[in-house]
Amino acid sequence: LQPSASVRERIETDAAPRTPRPPLLTATNLTKDFGSGRDRLRAVDAVSFEIARGETFALVGESGSGKSTTARLVARLETASDGTVVLDGQDYTHARGERLRQLRRRLQLVYQNPYASLDPRFTVADAVDEPLRAFGRPRVERARRVTELIDLVALPASFASRRPAELSGGQRQRVAIARALALEPELLILDEAVSALDVSVQAQILQLLTDLQAELGLAYLFITHDLAVVRQVADRVGVMQGGCLVETGAAAGILESPSDAYTRRLLEAIP
Ligand code: ADP
Ligand code: MG
Repeated sequence: LQPSASVRERIETDAAPRTPRPPLLTATNLTKDFGSGRDRLRAVDAVSFEIARGETFALVGESGSGKSTTARLVARLETASDGTVVLDGQDYTHARGERLRQLRRRLQLVYQNPYASLDPRFTVADAVDEPLRAFGRPRVERARRVTELIDLVALPASFASRRPAELSGGQRQRVAIARALALEPELLILDEAVSALDVSVQAQILQLLTDLQAELGLAYLFITHDLAVVRQVADRVGVMQGGCLVETGAAAGILESPSDAYTRRLLEAIP
């Protein structure tokens, strides 16, 4: 007995998987050349990857392999020589003006050296408030949000009036994270953000990042040369060598059975 056409249609509709949400970030064929002619250097060479919402994608590789340039292309701090950057279905590759501003709100960078984002003259409260002010948030809302953000990164409220010189390295990185979260981004790009910290402080910041991800549903582009860190945080890993992404996959798979010879050597080089 065959089901009638309308029943069959209903069955097929019921069985059809819901359209999956597109990835939060899709980088396609990203390429960046510095210099020209004989001096031309291809720092990033046709790099493609995706990051899902709430996911941690780690980009690993030796110094000079093109990790930071890839981050800067995604954040549009550099303009790609070729390729596209799509966030949440919107193409930001050549965005300007208001659309570029929108990208600057939706993704944020945290660097290795917090002084790259913290002005030594600013108090913690000023530093966290700055993006809110720059994006025209009302004064009352800003004051409330600054208090909330300082609490979110587990700093005592009394730290609001301190300046970077009065903070430890880990505390400074907490302020940089609070500041990065001020405008409720969907993606944080962490470029060696824990690399300068000693191991116990590093563990605390990694725990904070893990907690924030669970609470806020953030996606991370986590750049590091430290595979021990990758083991702790990454869902998926991309391995860069000489500007190319030589291997991409689930963190467990890549760390346990890398298929690329370079990845194997990189893994053997760490204790
Ligand atoms: P990583 O972050 O993996 O250490 P980078 O992305 O910083 O690597 O650098 C990749 C390559 O691009 C390096 O050879 C570096 O010297 C070069 N490079 C990076 N930025 C610039 C720039 N602004 N001008 C010229 N060369 C650059
Ligand atoms: Mg770098």
